[in-house]
Amino acid sequence: MISIEQLTKVYGHGAHATVVLDRLDFRVDAGEIFAVVGPSGAGKSTLAQCVNLLERPTSGSVLVNGENLSRLGERQLRAARRRIGTIFQSDGLYSRRTAAQNVALPLEYLGVTSAEAKRRVAELLDRVGLSDRAGHYPHQLSGGQRQRVGIARALALRPQVLLSDEATSGLDPESTASIVSLLKELRDDLDLSILFITHEMDTVLQVADAVARLDHGHIVESGRIVDLLRDPASALGRALRPARPHAAPQHGETHWFLSYTSAAVPADWVLRLASELDAPVSVLGASIETVAGQTVGHASIGVRAVDPVRLVAAARQLGLDARPVPDRPDAAVPAISVDAAVPTAESSPALERVA
Ligand code: ADP
Repeated sequence: MISIEQLTKVYGHGAHATVVLDRLDFRVDAGEIFAVVGPSGAGKSTLAQCVNLLERPTSGSVLVNGENLSRLGERQLRAARRRIGTIFQSDGLYSRRTAAQNVALPLEYLGVTSAEAKRRVAELLDRVGLSDRAGHYPHQLSGGQRQRVGIARALALRPQVLLSDEATSGLDPESTASIVSLLKELRDDLDLSILFITHEMDTVLQVADAVARLDHGHIVESGRIVDLLRDPASALGRALRPARPHAAPQHGETHWFLSYTSAAVPADWVLRLASELDAPVSVLGASIETVAGQTVGHASIGVRAVDPVRLVAAARQLGLDARPVPDRPDAAVPAISVDAAVPTAESSPALERVA
């Protein structure tokens, strides 16, 4: 487990002081991938350097399994660094060394016997699916394969925490997907805490269990991915949703945006909604997927001559938040309030019948 407590980093002094990280707090449990996402200049690299102990925080702590690593002296620090495996955007492999020799490097520094190192390297290359590339040099490997060698090297000293610093940035979508699935395997098989730092929102949705958005050195929003996706008021949830083009509503139809706010949305909700409203429902666009084993999604629909309050209430009974889509794309989307007596998705007898 890794805990970041009130982590602050200030560069410069006095009038020239710049607060780059301002009292960050978050925790990455064992067996969890926690993403930190943010634009350029947000403080992501500085956070990565504080976590892998290349920079000392100005104040606050980095704890791995309860031990405060930010207070250690130089000698203890070197030992502590082994507990954190880091993978970088640039794979950092030695071009004159084979994949196996690159993975062996940290073991050599540690003075592990060559027989033991050989056994461990074979195990690590197998772990990342590159047993058949052991003798290849970096230039003979694809970008994704080089990154896998980097991951094997980061795992060589059996770290408890893996820090991924823009490790998939610049990779093609296929290589990114393969690194994402490898990280999830490592999370599950080795029970690692993985801190995944990136500027790519798409990758966050694929890889992370939870996420924090960093902006100007502050965490502006954070939460579990599924919860954020189900919260219509969450800006981070909206940013995580893949933008999908949708068709225009037919003449006479009003345009609505529906999002899943509950785990119990029935798969045949379109039919149920139409039947409840006694009106046809046109699906204009939709994205429904499974994230962390749970269904999340949103849809754009057109309906004809229906009382808005009735529609919002009927949608809510099915576990959906419904908002009218404004005619102009830059207008704010209003939420229509429904009588408080309307049952929520969780308490609805209609839904209990479904379940
Ligand atoms: P990101 O990785 O999100 O792009 P960085 O951590 O690289 O952000 O930088 C965050 C801010 O900190 C930037 O405004 C940058 O100019 C500043 N910064 C980074 N390193 C230093 C440094 N060594 N001295 C002074 N300012 C720095």
